[in-house]
Amino acid sequence: MLDSEKRRLRLKRTLLLKKLAKIRDFTRGSVVLMKRRCYRPNCRRCASGEVHPTWVLTVSTGGKTRTVYLGGKRVDDAKRMVENYHTMQAWIEEVGRINLALLTNKSVPKKGAYDE
Ligand SMILES: [Zn+2]
Repeated sequence: MLDSEKRRLRLKRTLLLKKLAKIRDFTRGSVVLMKRRCYRPNCRRCASGEVHPTWVLTVSTGGKTRTVYLGGKRVDDAKRMVENYHTMQAWIEEVGRINLALLTNKSVPKKGAYDE
């Protein structure tokens, strides 16, 4: 690998790490619209077979799925946090590819080249 290519990769890595350090709000999980019953005995909506749409964030950890109910404003926040998580994951993968290229002195492997 040419020295100029190494410099370019190191610079790219630095930029990615700087961008990563700026993101604070992130979480793993999925924001989904769940339809559920409220189980109030006199709820006409549930009695009629209609259900209550409710935004939730589901996060699986250690084989268990945690469900966080998102009222009102928290939906957008949660969506942004999940999106940030995926963005960061992609950047981490990119830094990993750069590091592998620098380690092996070969050009950056294609995306997914060393994924299992
Ligand atoms: Zn109901």
